[in-house]
Amino acid sequence: MEDRDLILRNVEVAGRPGQDVRLARGRIAEIGERLCGPGDSLDGRGGALLPGLVDHHIHLLASAARAQSALLERSRDAVEFERTLREALAARPAGAWLRATGYHERMAGDLDRDVLDRIAPGHRLRVQHQTGSLWILNSLALEKVTAQGAPPEAERDAAGRLTGRIWRGDAWLRARLANDPPDLSALGKTLTAHGITGLTDASATTDGQAAGLLAQAHRLGVLPQRLTLMSAGPLAAPEDGAFEVGPVKVLLDDARLLDLAAFVERIVEARPQGRAVAVHCVTAGELALTLAAFEIAGARPGDRVEHGGVIPADAIPVLKQLGLTVVTQPAFVFERGDRYLAEVDPAEQGDLYRCASLLAAGVPTAASSDAPYASPDPWSGIRAAIRRRTRDGQPIGTAEQVGPMTALNLYLGERRAPGGQATSIAPGAAADLCLLSAPLAEILAEPSAERVRATIVAGRVVFAAN
Ligand SMILES: [Zn+2]
Repeated sequence: MEDRDLILRNVEVAGRPGQDVRLARGRIAEIGERLCGPGDSLDGRGGALLPGLVDHHIHLLASAARAQSALLERSRDAVEFERTLREALAARPAGAWLRATGYHERMAGDLDRDVLDRIAPGHRLRVQHQTGSLWILNSLALEKVTAQGAPPEAERDAAGRLTGRIWRGDAWLRARLANDPPDLSALGKTLTAHGITGLTDASATTDGQAAGLLAQAHRLGVLPQRLTLMSAGPLAAPEDGAFEVGPVKVLLDDARLLDLAAFVERIVEARPQGRAVAVHCVTAGELALTLAAFEIAGARPGDRVEHGGVIPADAIPVLKQLGLTVVTQPAFVFERGDRYLAEVDPAEQGDLYRCASLLAAGVPTAASSDAPYASPDPWSGIRAAIRRRTRDGQPIGTAEQVGPMTALNLYLGERRAPGGQATSIAPGAAADLCLLSAPLAEILAEPSAERVRATIVAGRVVFAAN
């Protein structure tokens, strides 16, 4: 990768207008007025220069695969669900695979192979539940992947017949699908256009092979962001630094909570690897178990609660006392808020995806997308954190609103210490930057990805708006 020096002219830095910022060897060399130096210059036209945004919890391969899938999220009922699938199937030759994501029972109830066989008798169809924890396959798909036997994750009915429902079977399924790995280039372009320069992939399923795909995409510049990868099992960082190894990811789900002793063991086992632990906690039950496990095993800085979907008020001081970081997804209150208002007990709606109350209690809090389960656009998350409005415009948990600067800061922490000190623009810091099209006060009045003018990683311009 070639390191060309670059001077960003006339940008706003930390509220100071009219600054020049000189980048050299991938770092910020100098900040001041009318700087001189070798290399190219880029006219910032008075726009704010920010540290590059970080998405602290994303699933990269799943997000790339989503781009090639039928998307069910917007289907309101069985008719729309079937129409979406039939349209996607009609565009594929008989026998081909179709992957569909974003299913929820409100569409057509509990799915099984028989329901899918009626819709797709001649294709291999697999449908993912919107939680990501369940796949439902039709008979042709099931036949293909179970040729060498079915895993314990595959549900059977009372008669012992496979129902097509496979819980938490991602790793098993992926190993059996001869599909080409998903193409990361469209996702990489989208993320750079959003001003993102750092990513933490939170997939428990990441193994050496998946990590290798991501590292290669990074080396080729397809995914120019700096990468941290979580995994459930051991993972080694490559010598060239294409990614760093992040926390051990622990998945729970209410349907079959990991028993406490086994959970404590997972935390204890992470320590000799030098790794923190990040726990998927969407429900109050998952959070209670997580807090109990950390109380027994002991928490260390960097341990994380992912999502914090439901955080009862009395759990907040425990989070603080244990020193756990919450990595939340503000955009869920926008994207799924109307359903939460309909389905979540009103007494618990204030516990959903908390933000302001965590910060007020001193709990380190950072934001992320959880893409593909929500949009990867951090600016949409920033808007949601400020406004706390559903897609239909209904307020939800407005006590958790934060100010625009606080919302932005949720995306500015270090990958290694989300929720800690926001990174700043200073000489010596890595030149991972996001240039906006106007001063920050103007941008924060109406945050939008369209205001990103350029994205710079290690001193290289990886995105420039037309
Ligand atoms: Zn996730």
